[in-house]
Amino acid sequence: MKDTLKHRGKRNQLVDLIASKGIKSPEVLAAIRAVPRHLFMDSGFEDHAYQDKAFPIASGQTISQPYTVAYQTELLEIKPGDKILEIGTGSGYQTAVLLQLKAKVFTVERQLNLFKKTKLFFDRMGYRPKRFVFGDGYKGMPEEAPFDGILVTAGAPRIPKALMSQLKIGGRLVIPVGEDHQTMMLITRSSEKEFERRECGSFRFVPLLEDKN
Ligand code: SAH
Repeated sequence: MKDTLKHRGKRNQLVDLIASKGIKSPEVLAAIRAVPRHLFMDSGFEDHAYQDKAFPIASGQTISQPYTVAYQTELLEIKPGDKILEIGTGSGYQTAVLLQLKAKVFTVERQLNLFKKTKLFFDRMGYRPKRFVFGDGYKGMPEEAPFDGILVTAGAPRIPKALMSQLKIGGRLVIPVGEDHQTMMLITRSSEKEFERRECGSFRFVPLLEDKN
């Protein structure tokens, strides 16, 4: 599959739509405009790529809704060179948006099939996260901490302590918390021991799973 003029036209319309839904950051909107979302989905489904909807990918998982990707990314307030940890690589679409913002990206996926598929895809497309690890995101990536930002792209029943402890002072954790539907939480580390919490609306994600199966 290629990125054609038609795809780019549809992407421009998608960007207009998510801007009308309240995404303001010019950098985030430019990143959504740049990343060819249809290439992250199985061929045959590309007609769905530029609707503002989540969509099924391999292993019973989903590629997040573009608005949600933009919203979570905006909350991170990424500056070029920031170290960002993503939990739940999935299709790699969110990863590519982070890379487009010139972040140094560390990303974790716990489903082996999806990990292998997305790894091949990144290699083929030339997407280069600093590290792409098969493992359990509840643990974060302690060997690479601290991070400027941590982004969880699955619904977490609780906020993993490990992720809070891997934030820099001033760093931000964006995490949807809840079982059936989730409240988007923005947690900012204001000092070694203090964290500020802000609730940022209601969303629905696939679950952040605790044990491997
Ligand atoms: N960012 C992805 C969204 C994928 S959906 C995208 O843009 O496509 C959430 C992903 O989180 C799924 O791929 C799921 O397998 C993964 N996941 C669930 N529990 C996890 C855990 N404990 N650690 C790491 N990844 C997890």
